[in-house]
Amino acid sequence: MTERLSVDYMALEAAHSSGVYAKRALTIVRGEGAYLWDAEGNRYIDCVGGQGAANVGHCHPKVVAAIQAQAGVLLSCPELFYNDQRALLLQKLTRLAAMPRAFLCNSGAEAVEAALKFAKFATKRTEVVATMRGFHGRTMGALSATWEPKYREPFAPLVPNYQHVPFNDLAAAEAAITEQTAAVLVEVVQGEGGVRPADGDYLRGLQALCRERGALFIVDEVQTGFGRTGRMFAHQHYALAPDLMPVAKSIAGGVPFGACLIGERVGALQPAIHGTTFGGNPLGCAAALAAIDVLIEEDLSARAAALGDFLMARLGDLPRRFRAQVREVRGLGLLFGIELRGKVAPVLKALQARGVLALPAGLNVLRLLPPLVIAQADLEQVARAIESVLEELGAAAIE
Ligand SMILES: *Cc1c(COP(=O)(O)O)cnc(C)c1O
Repeated sequence: MTERLSVDYMALEAAHSSGVYAKRALTIVRGEGAYLWDAEGNRYIDCVGGQGAANVGHCHPKVVAAIQAQAGVLLSCPELFYNDQRALLLQKLTRLAAMPRAFLCNSGAEAVEAALKFAKFATKRTEVVATMRGFHGRTMGALSATWEPKYREPFAPLVPNYQHVPFNDLAAAEAAITEQTAAVLVEVVQGEGGVRPADGDYLRGLQALCRERGALFIVDEVQTGFGRTGRMFAHQHYALAPDLMPVAKSIAGGVPFGACLIGERVGALQPAIHGTTFGGNPLGCAAALAAIDVLIEEDLSARAAALGDFLMARLGDLPRRFRAQVREVRGLGLLFGIELRGKVAPVLKALQARGVLALPAGLNVLRLLPPLVIAQADLEQVARAIESVLEELGAAAIE
């Protein structure tokens, strides 16, 4: 502890980090379940949830044990060989998703990138339709599908033949999807784009249009997957059958890992059209096997649904109670968003001072993404902290 405090980690990072992240003045050194601790030993209730990577909770003992065991056996094994952990994970993951095959990788952007390449390869078409406010990652292909101009503009020109249609607008999609469309890419709940749930009819309509016009239907479940929204995968709320499904974030209990699930309509892929050195590495596979077991054994999807209902019952009337500060409350399961009338940054700061860490989604949405193992009593604490911050801000606005 004393040694930790003798090093100024914040100054070290500030001096040598890339500069692409706006950081909060907080050094996190430990996590357990839904709690995080800073370098001074202060405990926080975590509603950042590793930005979606910590659904099973920080340092879940079963995930930790699996990583420790595998670390002493085999760390590297590229996919030019078969591997025991990988074989078992592919079986578990494809059964869970009810999709026959999967490409394994290391992050969400890579999983999206794989989906886009596979769609182009399989359809021999070049056009991609994505949605306004959609977020799919920062690599050039995934970025081309991402909407936010401030992420895109510095890097133009991006991949050609991508277009963005208004979200939840089936008529606009119908006009955009043609016989040239390789893929339509959508989130069931737009996470980074402001916690905006899609309508079931819209998603079913998109899927039908894809089937009709020969495009592949890509559902990006990087943030919504693995129990977050109250089902193992969010598209199960609407009985969808994606052709390609990128997943990542919580797939391996916090270890970097991703996958692109591949449906029947994609057809055969060929050796050498895609690949990655660390894809399907035994350490990540062992962690993912353990994390998926935990999700199932602890029924964390049902827990997310129940706790999401609790939060909505507890905070759903914020727009009425805090009319001047809150525009709307929305979400699905434990992907929860509070749209403010003003900026979210001061709210995040005030919550941190009250021992609660939360996320933004854009400039004015407060996003809660707690580990699904969070105690209801802790969510009650979070709700009280939010009310107290809104009261304080309301009082400040009147002064
Ligand atoms: C986070 C996210 C990504 C990108 O994942 P990374 O692991 O950060 O590359 C892609 N799609 C969605 C929906 C996400 O939320």
